[in-house]
Amino acid sequence: MSAQLLDGKAISSQIRAEIAEEAAALTAQTGVTATLAAILVGDDPASQIYVRNKQRDCERSNMKSVLHRLPADTPEAALLELIARLNGDPTIHGILVQLPLPQGISEERILDSVSPEKDVDCFHPTNVGLLSQGRPRFLPCTPHGVLQILHRCGIETAGKHAVVVGRSEIVGKPMTQLLVQRSSPLGPGMANATVTCCHSRTPDLAAITRQADVLIVAIGKADFITGDMVKPGAAVIDVGMNRVDGRLTGDVDFASVVEVAGHLTPVPGGVGPLTIAMLLRNTLAAAQQQTPCSKPA
Ligand code: NDP
Repeated sequence: MSAQLLDGKAISSQIRAEIAEEAAALTAQTGVTATLAAILVGDDPASQIYVRNKQRDCERSNMKSVLHRLPADTPEAALLELIARLNGDPTIHGILVQLPLPQGISEERILDSVSPEKDVDCFHPTNVGLLSQGRPRFLPCTPHGVLQILHRCGIETAGKHAVVVGRSEIVGKPMTQLLVQRSSPLGPGMANATVTCCHSRTPDLAAITRQADVLIVAIGKADFITGDMVKPGAAVIDVGMNRVDGRLTGDVDFASVVEVAGHLTPVPGGVGPLTIAMLLRNTLAAAQQQTPCSKPA
């Protein structure tokens, strides 16, 4: 058996086209252009590329982006001051602080200072709380991307056993939260899973992953999940992005898992392209929420 590959690139293009159309409609109706402020502190090369890509994609989607570049030795107080200014600026709808921040700056204090209404990464405790109560203001970008792939490929989670490997604040925990809810903005079929969340202290991980109808892996260890850890016919979503000898590879051992799974996301070209698309979706949603006479879709 060979798994059907889930094409994240194609799904991301489709979603971006939908967003571009809605963003243009917002501007036509209200004169407001959805705008993202990106803050980049220091000169980490990977962060520079991520921010550049996010800005480029904003502009391709009929939105604006404004970059604030600060030197690595910026004091935390200056960063807090900038965020306070952006929080109060009505022309800015979303604020993104590119992580990681240089040593000496508290990520927690910085992320907590972003206004929840402009927190398009969905990291603020208020937004995390709303998500856990099943009334999200924004959906967290990467987990939302995973749900979009499943949804648009006709794979429902309702009534299934979903196993999430990884419990980070960015991927594993919010993914678990989304799957366990009674309803989802994508429809009831995209929630209502029975969810098991595993981590590095989980004994006999393979015994649990082998029970998964939907297996979502986000651990940051190249080729960790092998075919013998997967239930035949399962949908396997590989969130991992690891650099091995200059090559991008996932957390799932593609060669063995593709023989067992029913569906599988490749790396690259799976979940990765969806994360930025979902950031654009949240920026547009923020602009719609902050613009009184707009008509959100
Ligand atoms: P973190 O390092 O924050 O978290 C990793 C998680 O994996 C932890 O919960 C850890 O457990 C768990 N883990 C580590 N080793 C094992 C193991 N042997 N068995 C079971 N669980 C284990 O990573 P992130 O969640 O931020 O990222 C995970 C991967 O996803 C990375 O490769 C990252 O690059 C990628 N990523 C991809 C994105 C995309 O757009 N495609 C976006 C974000 C991340 P514990 O808590 O016990 O330490």
